[in-house]
Amino acid sequence: MDKLGVFLCTGCGIGEAVDVDEVIEAANEHGCACTLTHECFCGPEGLEAIKSTVADNALNGILVAACTERVKTKEFAALTVDGPSMFRMAVREHCAWSHADGDEDTTMIAQDMVRMGLARLSGFKAIEPLAEEISDTVMVVGSGRAGLEAALTAAGLGHPVVLVEKDDHLGGLLANQKSIPPEEPPYEQPQANPVPKLIEEIEASDQIKVLTTTNIVKIEGQPGQFKVSLNGSSGLEMTVGSIVQATGARPYDATKLGHLGYGASPDVVTSHEFERMLVAGKIACPSDGRTPKRIAYIQCAGSRDENHLRYCSSDCCNNTLRQMMEVAKIDTSIENAVIYKDIRAPGLMEYFFLSAQKEAVGMMTRGEVQKIEANGTLKIHVADSLLGDNVAIEADLVVLAVGMVPRSADGELIRELHDSRHQAEHSESSQVREKSAIRAEELAGHEGTEILNLDYRQGPDLPALKYGFPDSHFICFPYESRRTGIYAAGTVHAPMDSVQAAEDGSGAAMKAVQCIEMAKRGEAVHPRAGDTAYPDFFLQRCTQCKRCTEECPFGTLNEDEKGTPELFLLRCRRCGICMGACPERIISFQDYSVHMVAEMIKAVSVPEDYEEKPRIVALMCENDALPALETAAAMGATWNPWTRIIPVRCLGSMNIIWLAEALSRGIDGVILIGCKFGDDYQCHYVRGSELANTRLDNVGETLERLALESERVKLVELSHDEFDRIPTILDEFAEELDEMGPNPLKGF
Ligand code: SF4
Ligand code: SF4
Repeated sequence: MDKLGVFLCTGCGIGEAVDVDEVIEAANEHGCACTLTHECFCGPEGLEAIKSTVADNALNGILVAACTERVKTKEFAALTVDGPSMFRMAVREHCAWSHADGDEDTTMIAQDMVRMGLARLSGFKAIEPLAEEISDTVMVVGSGRAGLEAALTAAGLGHPVVLVEKDDHLGGLLANQKSIPPEEPPYEQPQANPVPKLIEEIEASDQIKVLTTTNIVKIEGQPGQFKVSLNGSSGLEMTVGSIVQATGARPYDATKLGHLGYGASPDVVTSHEFERMLVAGKIACPSDGRTPKRIAYIQCAGSRDENHLRYCSSDCCNNTLRQMMEVAKIDTSIENAVIYKDIRAPGLMEYFFLSAQKEAVGMMTRGEVQKIEANGTLKIHVADSLLGDNVAIEADLVVLAVGMVPRSADGELIRELHDSRHQAEHSESSQVREKSAIRAEELAGHEGTEILNLDYRQGPDLPALKYGFPDSHFICFPYESRRTGIYAAGTVHAPMDSVQAAEDGSGAAMKAVQCIEMAKRGEAVHPRAGDTAYPDFFLQRCTQCKRCTEECPFGTLNEDEKGTPELFLLRCRRCGICMGACPERIISFQDYSVHMVAEMIKAVSVPEDYEEKPRIVALMCENDALPALETAAAMGATWNPWTRIIPVRCLGSMNIIWLAEALSRGIDGVILIGCKFGDDYQCHYVRGSELANTRLDNVGETLERLALESERVKLVELSHDEFDRIPTILDEFAEELDEMGPNPLKGF
């Protein structure tokens, strides 16, 4: 970029806060081609003034020093259509609104911001559009309620759909269910199973191709260009644009519930086995075919239990209420008894609960089932019951309301199976070989279950959370997985009931369609939706250290046999984590690079006289930390005038060279503010801030070499709603640095 213009807005209080002439002077001294001020650059007159200045001076880059880029986006973006590159510095929030009007130090902040902005902008390179051939097809894997709804939604949006099902029929677990809990007012009676009608619609659609008895052998490629190999009856290969994984859940293995009598008596059945009796319209004890006088339903059978499934499966309570109402329809002489930990019938399901209580329930009690004795009849020993401390309840038939295990958990197990087999054959330790062989044998039964078989360096299935559900950013991006263009829906995604699965399927299909449309435009999907810049690897200097392939949270990179990264750009979320990880610093975006941020740091003025003017650089994550700071500024918060804010895509993009650069130039300290880490992570890029923290372990050595205290670099975790902490965080760090005294490298 060689012809840059600076457009300093004087509106929104900026003109009162800073000495405009001095800021313009700093811009001129930093080598910009022209400058302009206006009291409202975001208004039609201001925008027109920018346009004509750009044309008159043939500018190819414009720095707008005004409000945060989170506002007036559309207005300013219009300036860059087929025109110059643009960078915005939030002088309003980072300087004018958060510091004293007319103060010399406030003007110095604005001067530094303009210099930093020009330094960044001068490194910009033209973005070549990604020209790729993109498939319009959405592939839906699994045909339970979520899969059926996903297929119909994507087809309804005009996209061809391929629906892949491992069984010889559609419908998943719901296919064999008599009814479902109510989805419509007055929410009092079971409702007809919607699956047969959905299957009819699928079969009538000429947009949807159905492949039953089919498994996925391999998925290669990237969004817009996934190459899928299938086996089974179809045996074909195809290219699809995006994928909805709706492979559902399987019932928890009741053979693990021996304490609840499963296996000890044929009259202890799971809720799924009991459903077959309801569908057949005949309720009989399996042991001798007699009609039970009393059926006992044990809720949370293996759920919310640290020895089994630790989570609530979400639909078993309503399902039991429904099954009891179906029993009452078949034979009113049968008494239904329920033993529960809590009945979880939230929201409008309260009506269903009340109606079931009135029409179908003989007895309900809270309590912990200790054991079930099978001795002629079944005796259920219950502790802490509402009926008294410990009671024994007799029943002829016991129904265990078992929870759900996501199919993605099978993916984890299959991965473990492959690892165990590998270890059993190749480990150098005989003990490990022996243990691995035992584990491989235990897991062998899971082979052949429905997984995606992704040809990704980071593994064949969606990464899963600790309970085996695919990972997702549940707060901000519930549909997203860590594999761009692949969306989980229904009970494989999270425990849910049928109506939630329907919504989840539709939602995931909309994301799948959105991904295809954005891939066509070469844009990132989320959270940098619309970003057209992408990482460029200068592979001639790659040392095959594999840090980028290992640290990319989204499995963007595969590797060749030598370990050189193979980039699939349409998988990329543009977080810059690879850029921060690469020790050779050979990964850059057209508008963001190690070099550009280093130049921004160099552009900060470092007065030699520490007593008056210490300097601090704050590297702040653009996703949460920076918006938190801008919210604080908008609410009137103030902080010290020594801190210079540099926005980063994610703290994970932080390359430690920036810290060395800052401290060796005499900057007194560097603070990094990013998202909270941990399993319930907040980071939009999964582990970016955590990775930055790990990299800081290596910084100690660099600081030692420079004879500097390690406390001069600090990382703070912050969530968006903690904006009120901003002044304290920044001022406390300034005080800590003050106690340490000036950076001894100042002035060298
Ligand atoms: S920018 Fe992020 S998502 Fe893209 S390759 Fe690098 S680490 Fe992966
Ligand atoms: S981190 Fe850099 S040097 Fe290492 S493999 Fe990736 S591109 Fe090559």
